[in-house]
Amino acid sequence: MRAITAELIHDGSGFVTGRALLVQGDRSAGLVSLDAIPEGAVREDWGPVALLPGTVNAHGHAFQNLLKGFADDRTFDLWRDDVLYPFSERLDGHDIYTGALFAFAEALLAGVTTTVDFFYLHDGGNGNARRVIEAARATGIRLVFARAFYDEDAPSAAPVRYREKAHEAAARCKELAREYEGDPLISIQPAPHSLHAASPETIACALEVAHELDVPCHLHLAEAAYERAHIEERYGTTPVRLLYREGLLGPRLVTIHTVWVDDEELDMLAEAGVGVVHCPGANAFLGDGIARVPEMIARGIRVALGPDGGCANNRQSIFEEMRQATLMAKARLVDGSAMTAGVALALGTKAGGDLLGMPVGSFAAGCFADAVALDLDDLSLQPLATLEHQVVSSMQATAVARVMVGGEIVVDGGRPQRFDLAELRTRIAETTGAWTRP
Ligand SMILES: [Zn+2]
Repeated sequence: MRAITAELIHDGSGFVTGRALLVQGDRSAGLVSLDAIPEGAVREDWGPVALLPGTVNAHGHAFQNLLKGFADDRTFDLWRDDVLYPFSERLDGHDIYTGALFAFAEALLAGVTTTVDFFYLHDGGNGNARRVIEAARATGIRLVFARAFYDEDAPSAAPVRYREKAHEAAARCKELAREYEGDPLISIQPAPHSLHAASPETIACALEVAHELDVPCHLHLAEAAYERAHIEERYGTTPVRLLYREGLLGPRLVTIHTVWVDDEELDMLAEAGVGVVHCPGANAFLGDGIARVPEMIARGIRVALGPDGGCANNRQSIFEEMRQATLMAKARLVDGSAMTAGVALALGTKAGGDLLGMPVGSFAAGCFADAVALDLDDLSLQPLATLEHQVVSSMQATAVARVMVGGEIVVDGGRPQRFDLAELRTRIAETTGAWTRP
């Protein structure tokens, strides 16, 4: 048993002094006061830092990190047609590994300890998926591999390598889940891409897999206005109503974005216990709009945060998304009290664990020992008297001093411990050096 002490520790409601985080193997054994540290525990004093549960990225596409800058400043259809589709055709297994390493490295250095990779470059198999999982292992980050289901006959111009028959996607998802069963660092979860790329039958098939594996099921939903119009034209109803009609709403479903929804649709989501991943930075970056998060929270809808893909944000920091979430809510509702720092902090930690069905985002006993230590000397955290507000609103990445995943310190002094940054830069240049921005 280890007993980690720090000047301040976040206990889920605020920063407190005089506590220790007990760690047994890769799990937390809870927070205790200093005089209750068990005899025989090995003490580690981390000194002048504030210890928080590691942040949880509930939605991303790691390979897109390689496309950063190439896709920026376009309308959504040009972002997709001029860059996402053609550039994602250029990536082989080596590049996919590099892209994942890049995204996971950025995330870890920003204090993310659990990350979702919603992955669809399948080439009709699981070989590329394994490269992504290898990249997660190389960095030490905890990975939710959300294996996409993308219909063979989806009416889009998406590359063939994305596409599979639903029953093949289901079999491959279960095959991966079996391969990594019992691995504390890897969770395999099904992810029908969206209503424009997965039919209601495919979504039902993915939900069955989720039920079998006892995990959530991820789905992009109502991201942009064009998508809502497209679904209305094709199915004669709106995205959430279509899912309701087909009996696909339920507590396993995690919908991503969910920007273009009306009050009645929010009620349907709340009633069914659906979770939502809010991606405020990506929604703004792509010009999609702003999700109605305070209205969701008021209805009891579970909400977590994600940066989304590297070329749609372009940052891999959940602290950044906390800040964006508060700013967007305040700007949209013209109300400076629309979302507090404490709420945003919970969305990026505990709520992420709840939505992913994993014991992360909290120091409660039994959760994974995932933590981020913030350097209290960092200027961006001053004044310390109102630290929680600084963490959400003013903190710079320079404050992230140490990151622990499953009890292992994987970032120390702001430096990765498991991989070499210079080597990573070389790999990124090898893949992208000859590319030009369309
Ligand atoms: Zn996405």
